[in-house]
Amino acid sequence: MGQRLVVIGGDAAGGSAASQARKRQPDLDVVIFERGRSTSYSACGIPYWISGTVDDEAALVARTPEQHRAAGIDVRMRTEVVGIDLDRRTVAWRDLDSGAEGREPFDDLVYATGSVPMRPPVPGIDADGVFGVQVLDDGATLRAELARGPVRRVVVVGGGYIGLEIAEACRIRGLDVTVVDRSATPVGTFDPDVGAQIAEAVRGEGIDLVLSDGVAAIAVGTDGRARAVVTASGRELPADLVVLGLGVRPNVALAREAGIPLGTSGGVAVDARMRTGVEGVWAAGDCVESVHRLSGQRVVVALGTHANKQGRVAGINIGGGYATFPGVIGTAITRVCDLEAARTGLSSAEAEAAGYSFVRAAVDSTTKAGYFPGAAPIRVTMIAERRSGRLLGAQIVGREAAAKRIDALAICIWNEMTVDEILSLDLSYAPPFAPVWDPVLIAARKAFEAVEADVRSL
Ligand SMILES: Cc1cc2nc3c(=O)[nH]c(=O)nc-3n(C[C@H](O)[C@H](O)[C@H](O)COP(=O)(O)OP(=O)(O)OC[C@H]3O[C@@H](n4cnc5c(N)ncnc54)[C@H](O)[C@@H]3O)c2cc1C
Repeated sequence: MGQRLVVIGGDAAGGSAASQARKRQPDLDVVIFERGRSTSYSACGIPYWISGTVDDEAALVARTPEQHRAAGIDVRMRTEVVGIDLDRRTVAWRDLDSGAEGREPFDDLVYATGSVPMRPPVPGIDADGVFGVQVLDDGATLRAELARGPVRRVVVVGGGYIGLEIAEACRIRGLDVTVVDRSATPVGTFDPDVGAQIAEAVRGEGIDLVLSDGVAAIAVGTDGRARAVVTASGRELPADLVVLGLGVRPNVALAREAGIPLGTSGGVAVDARMRTGVEGVWAAGDCVESVHRLSGQRVVVALGTHANKQGRVAGINIGGGYATFPGVIGTAITRVCDLEAARTGLSSAEAEAAGYSFVRAAVDSTTKAGYFPGAAPIRVTMIAERRSGRLLGAQIVGREAAAKRIDALAICIWNEMTVDEILSLDLSYAPPFAPVWDPVLIAARKAFEAVEADVRSL
């Protein structure tokens, strides 16, 4: 038998690692264990599949098990890894359909188990009719439930971006939707003023938003199904179906049991090459922690963009190459109802927590020249370090074609640029695309003025 790579988890991180390793080392035996029904799928597309914007489940699958097999990878579907023995260098597996069990030896192991939705420890949380959304099979289950006749009222617990995307999807299906969140504004990764705009857009879509009120219990009917969400303030929100949108935590149970070291943030600890510190054991994706390039802290950021890159890096290294994952800067984008929102770098709260002293500037402008048909509102907020003027964070909220501008600012932050440098950048302009002063440049100018005013006031 040749060298053998075993991969636990066959989605973004695991699938990328397996493909890269095999491509670089064609004689490598590669086995993927995937407990679900799909490989290399887009969980990010689930809300659009639920709403019907995307109609075909197959469209969400980038690489089927058959395609992986055609590339020489042995894919074991509906097969869960239930233990890792680092001394014997084997994994124990169980076939979820037949109940068959066995062990598989490995020389290299990629741990790519993703994350699990957070479930608040409240009464009734395990009742029928309460759903988390993480993998494609969860999307299929939710779609099937929604297609059941009696579902009319949906309560989403948690107003993070996934919760809101699911809420919107249910609303598009014509359901009565309530989102409950204990914060004063939804999507807590944004500053509160952006959160307030998001809240307005959500309510504008006819979704009921209950804020500053957490979930205290799920009321369960005599049939064992969830019938309402009870909030901390005692409100009872009737529900035929409850969706959890409280965020996720890294799926590290197997790693912890096996003795693969975890980091300070709770994810599997890895170095820049995605090595865990245990010889021949690698990890990638939602289950690992990454270095935040601005705060210097170890963070768990569950995003497909990182999972794919990290899987690729692990695969290249396993296949005999050299690659590194350089860390994250907190870039994310979402569309909530008809509002786009994006962020990069640190939010105000994160910058404060990281010990930065900063100024903040926000500008309201338009996505195209003000006179051009279709020009839509856009707000760009920047936070810049006091004195140095280094851009620490940016947030954009607006209508169509607003939010993708965040990528330019992500590059600025990545390259440690100051707002002074940014305001003179040679960005593109023509009336159908931007005002002559792009909103990004105006925001940089404002931030620069704030830095200057702060220095003058010393
Ligand atoms: C609704 C939704 C919307 C999202 N939108 C975005 C977005 O717009 N942009 C973005 O960047 N990210 C988005 N994400 C996040 C993104 O989908 C994840 O970050 C990404 O899928 C992580 O990839 P992964 O391979 O690390 O983990 P996962 O995709 O979770 O894959 C892990 C796989 O491992 C399998 N597995 C776990 N344990 C075992 C075991 N013991 N044995 C066998 N198999 C196992 C699971 O079945 C799963 O298929 C979204 C996620 C969701 C749920």
